[in-house]
Amino acid sequence: MSNKVEEPSGWGKSDKILDAVIIGTGFAGICMGIRFKQEKDINFIILEKSNGVGGTWRDNTYPGAACDVQSHLYSFSFEPNPNWSRMFGVQKEILEYMNHCVDKYNIREHIQFNTSVKGTYYDEKNGFWRVVTNENEIFFCRTLISATGGLSQPSYPKIKGLEQFQGKIFHSARWDHNYSLEGKKVAVIGTGASAIQIVPSIANKVKELNLFQRTPPWIIPKPDREITPNERILFKTFPFLQYIERSKLYWAFEFRVLGLVLYPELMKQFQKTAELHINNSIQNEELKRKITPDYTIGCKRILMSNEYYTTLEKSNVSVITNGIQEITKTGLLTLDGKHHEVDLIITATGFETAEALSPYEVIGREGKNLNSIWEKNGSEAYLGTSIHGFPNFLILVGPNTGLGHSSMILMIESQVQYALEVVKAIKRNSWKSMEVTNEAQFRYNIEMQRRLSKTIWSSGNCKSWYHHSNGKNNTLWPSFTFEFMARTLTFAPDDYLIETQNGEKHLDGALDVIARYASVLV
Ligand code: NAP
Repeated sequence: MSNKVEEPSGWGKSDKILDAVIIGTGFAGICMGIRFKQEKDINFIILEKSNGVGGTWRDNTYPGAACDVQSHLYSFSFEPNPNWSRMFGVQKEILEYMNHCVDKYNIREHIQFNTSVKGTYYDEKNGFWRVVTNENEIFFCRTLISATGGLSQPSYPKIKGLEQFQGKIFHSARWDHNYSLEGKKVAVIGTGASAIQIVPSIANKVKELNLFQRTPPWIIPKPDREITPNERILFKTFPFLQYIERSKLYWAFEFRVLGLVLYPELMKQFQKTAELHINNSIQNEELKRKITPDYTIGCKRILMSNEYYTTLEKSNVSVITNGIQEITKTGLLTLDGKHHEVDLIITATGFETAEALSPYEVIGREGKNLNSIWEKNGSEAYLGTSIHGFPNFLILVGPNTGLGHSSMILMIESQVQYALEVVKAIKRNSWKSMEVTNEAQFRYNIEMQRRLSKTIWSSGNCKSWYHHSNGKNNTLWPSFTFEFMARTLTFAPDDYLIETQNGEKHLDGALDVIARYASVLV
């Protein structure tokens, strides 16, 4: 497939303009590619900066990396995998599953690997996007789909002296497997979802493990176990059994919305499960005190582990809570004046989330710069997907589509369904552009913040990465996943400004609705 094209001088060279360019091959990019492929007449390409698919599941290879949502639910609804070896998929197996989907649905031929996007520019006159790569290769497309993910940019701690450390240092999402841990003195900074998987996996290998905790997480037991070969045969032979498993998990997770969103006071009761987990796992009273959070469970992401607490009691493991004052050439100096000499620092400090910007430049109508807008006001979109000022631009896993209670793949499938409807409508009607109105986006975001203000994420008395520094929670979806599913089943044309090829603009999408239903009836 040759994609090197000359910049069109004007409209009329539609053969050179793709229907869509997708950026990224995580779960969202793969799902979008599969749905386009199934449509048969959508001309698209997927650009991937790396040499393989998988997004966050390709990048996070740290020891112990696994999902904290059960595999039967953490997979595409249309591609159940009867071969999962455990209730909670491990990184390698999830990545294999993603590669399996890419091959089964024949989308690898649409992916251009090792292609990093530098900037994307909307051509207002002609209604298409120009996508420019680091190698200055240019693609033109009618619709641009950003699927670069919410957890793709590692967040490095801003600690004085970090750059002067002379030992080894790496982020949990950029693990250096060539570095041997045997007999080393190691510092882990952070006690989030990644750290609680890393710590039990490396504690037996290293000489000394110093865990630097700023805020303890609430952790509940992980109901993990092997899925037996007989169970796997049953799932293969009777797929509805796996469907029942998935449905049970789905509804159990949806139930959590009652506590997290609707009745936050219920979380105090649920907290007892986590308190019991601490009491059952740890003997040392001083350690118990150190690792017991002082905020309500659910305010930060609820974590799961059966090994983390018991690992903390090992003789070579220390939990340090005094706060890091500075990183020196040889270790970490804490606020109590103590110096902790180490060979390796692992920064398990998470990702750029609430403050995250697009990893490439996005220039929309009238030269509007998405990153400047988001930097100033925090990220905002309509249904987490469309942004005013950026016609024919769709973002997957965008603002307020994250989940505190269930599998992100549910949200991804809903957004992809929505994006597909938009791309098909633009193509079917030969629209020049489709842009969400300022009013619709404003109304939607007021609703999001109003609903989020009553949740445990706002009232639980914690500081979390769900919130932007302006106080808004621009990360989470404040409801059941079935509500998002219903709202993204089809797009509300009245919320969009539509521009036809001859420059007419109208708000009323009634014509499209009629055309769509007419095409079903004929
Ligand atoms: P995280 O949950 O954001 O945790 C980062 C940790 O680093 C926190 O404990 C944070 O402390 C600490 N930290 C940050 N800056 C620091 C500093 N300057 N000094 C000291 N401590 C600092 O990051 P993560 O563990 O990588 O997980 C991120 C997200 O990835 C998760 O919430 C989840 O969505 C996803 N994830 C999922 C799985 C899974 O099983 N599905 C596994 C791993 C990750 P504070 O709490 O005080 O800020």
